[in-house]
Amino acid sequence: MAGGASRSAPRVVILLGPPGAGKGTQARLLEERFGLVQLSTGDLLRAAVSEGTEAGQKAKAVMEAGQLVSDEIVLAVLKDRMAKPDTARGIILDGFPRTEGQARALDALLAAQGAEVTVAISLEVDDTAMVGRVAGRFTCAGCGEGYHDEFKPPRGDGVCDKCGGTAFTRRADDNAETVRERLTAYHAQTAPLIAYYQGKGVLRRVDAMGTIDNIAVAMAEALERESA
Ligand code: AMP
Repeated sequence: MAGGASRSAPRVVILLGPPGAGKGTQARLLEERFGLVQLSTGDLLRAAVSEGTEAGQKAKAVMEAGQLVSDEIVLAVLKDRMAKPDTARGIILDGFPRTEGQARALDALLAAQGAEVTVAISLEVDDTAMVGRVAGRFTCAGCGEGYHDEFKPPRGDGVCDKCGGTAFTRRADDNAETVRERLTAYHAQTAPLIAYYQGKGVLRRVDAMGTIDNIAVAMAEALERESA
């Protein structure tokens, strides 16, 4: 357990890495294994866009351009989600924080609950492979399981392995041009957080260029060490 967190405080796991590094896939695996709840600010914002809320209307064009939504909007959707009781045991933050301002706001939010970041796992990848990884991905519309045309197609053609659903969705921002913008935003605004969490002594680096299963093993080890 990290220094200042109380015994009953929720575990807070942060996943850092560029688009395509596998944050969402790994968050779902950690969720099942460690009983944590995945909070993806990208998913929360996409839900706000499709519901047409005020935050969603403001975020839509920014997301389509592959840029970062304002800290104010992102923090508002995140705080709403963190207030739900299912987050009490612990959370995996996927895609948040993405700026130093968000990281500081998170520290303040957690401190008010007697909690702090347990571990920040940096998924280390080769950027040049990320465009291909992102451009081929799609999701089951029923259960949210993630797939990829080349690296993880469903076992049965057109049928979700998990729920048997047959409808799939592709994100509007998962095209090569927008992925390049998102990579630029990552390096300019988010990569500095690696040093931020290193300075706090909670950073763990995981080589995320291997198979989904091998990366999952390394992630679980990083988390188990922190929770011991
Ligand atoms: P993701 O699903 O994490 O790849 O996020 C998709 C898009 O949502 C990003 O390209 C941003 O436009 C926006 N977004 C998600 N999380 C954040 C965040 N923490 N801060 C700013 N923008 C975000």
